[in-house]
Amino acid sequence: MMGLNDATPELLTQIEAAIGPKGLRAPGVDDLTEPRGIFKGRAASVIRPSNSAEVSKVMEICHAAQVGVIPLGGGTGLTGGRSLEIGALPVLLSLERMSAIRAVDAAANTMVTEAGAILQNVQTAAEAEDRLFPLSLASQGSAQIGGVLSTNAGGVNVLRYGNARNLCLGLEVVLADGRIWHGLRGLHKDNTGYDIRDLMIGAEGTLGIITAAVLQLFPRPAQQLAAWIAVPNPASALQLFTLMSAALGHSISAFELIDQTGMSFLSETGVMTPPAHLPASPWIVLLDCGAASGDALSSQVETALAEAFEQNLCTDALISQNAAQRDMFWQIRETIPAANRRIGAVSSHDISLPLAAIPKFIETARAAIDPGLRLNCFGHLGDGNLHFNIFPPKGAKRSDFAHMTKDVQRLVYDLVAEMGGSFSAEHGIGRLKLDELQHYGDPVKLAMMRAIKTALDPRGILNPGAVIPL
Ligand SMILES: Cc1cc2nc3c(=O)[nH]c(=O)nc-3n(C[C@H](O)[C@H](O)[C@H](O)COP(=O)(O)OP(=O)(O)OC[C@H]3O[C@@H](n4cnc5c(N)ncnc54)[C@H](O)[C@@H]3O)c2cc1C
Repeated sequence: MMGLNDATPELLTQIEAAIGPKGLRAPGVDDLTEPRGIFKGRAASVIRPSNSAEVSKVMEICHAAQVGVIPLGGGTGLTGGRSLEIGALPVLLSLERMSAIRAVDAAANTMVTEAGAILQNVQTAAEAEDRLFPLSLASQGSAQIGGVLSTNAGGVNVLRYGNARNLCLGLEVVLADGRIWHGLRGLHKDNTGYDIRDLMIGAEGTLGIITAAVLQLFPRPAQQLAAWIAVPNPASALQLFTLMSAALGHSISAFELIDQTGMSFLSETGVMTPPAHLPASPWIVLLDCGAASGDALSSQVETALAEAFEQNLCTDALISQNAAQRDMFWQIRETIPAANRRIGAVSSHDISLPLAAIPKFIETARAAIDPGLRLNCFGHLGDGNLHFNIFPPKGAKRSDFAHMTKDVQRLVYDLVAEMGGSFSAEHGIGRLKLDELQHYGDPVKLAMMRAIKTALDPRGILNPGAVIPL
């Protein structure tokens, strides 16, 4: 790849002439910082094209000038994917003006949307046509469809509906040199060579700019409920998952594990006071189910829970009686990351493991970590994805333990690798996990990734330094 040049005032003038004065704005603090404050990016300007033809013009200009272009969605990514701190000065390319939801086809269960559409607006538009777009994240009020697809985001419903990749049928993408790939089709079957759509999803803006997508929708479940279930330990939680899966099949949309530490962080930080009547235990499972009308979902869950009590897999349980109670369970779950951020993690790990390995992993990792540190282990147990986060003792500051971060990470990731898991389940590589990818990644896969990057972006202008080191 070639060396890049700074984005100069002359380049910005050229872009303005091509897409008009509304197409540029000065970068604000929110454009340059990211949620965890680990990275601080730089950019000469935020370029805001209003359609894919304008994206194409911008890319042509930046390609000719060999200037880095960093796609910007809602800015909620957690791995520094849109924050370039070193090297030539890039531009940010924001999809904020391309937020239209173009069409919802309820009969075909599809939606065509521009990449800048906010996830929550996509969910609402689907709901207006009595359809469900099931991708659900705590950041859905800001995250955009382009960002969600570029990070192959997961969230709480992966168990039943899959991650972003599984919810996308077609894409429109502008390549590094400005060419537009028109792959905006809603076909379920299309075996016509390499799957470019799947290549672009999860590429974190390093292979192309996603400008529009065809999304997969679903009928909305007529009945939905959640259960707050006290379990003695992760092994029981896993056995409970097996039991519930056998009893409820595809009705289960989420099976979340919550650590008592996470619950105590809510009150310690004051972000939320969970109701006192909730079953308490060292570990909680939040089960969420949905079914078509006619099925007696509530009685099915009750029967399965009775069986679980008999097998000593749970000690107490509360089934939601209405939508407000179900929302309250979820609000607790979704507020835990905010409490985590207030406490400040010494080290956070977004990992996945084969299901059977999870109890052993938690036990072994816990025993190996300095007993003075606190562990908050929570996440999407049903799909094998845990957020395994380590915190300072109560009252202590994260900065006093910063010297331990690297060692804790190595310990956790080595154990994950040994047990056949992944060091990045949901949040991607960005710039945060470049070293881990080089260390734990399969060398043949890494060579293929570099070859693909060179083929599609020979000048290396697309999100330089993300996923593939500079
Ligand atoms: C509170 C909170 C909770 C979260 N929960 C989850 C969760 O449960 N599961 C999960 O997977 N993630 C989660 N995330 C992470 C984040 O929300 C997701 O990664 C989200 O998909 C990012 O979308 P975004 O629009 O904010 O992208 P950004 O942060 O703007 O960008 C992310 C990456 O995608 C690239 N990109 C953005 N738009 C485009 C585009 N149109 N074309 C090409 N590349 C593009 C960027 O360059 C960057 O590399 C959470 C984040 C927060 C802050």
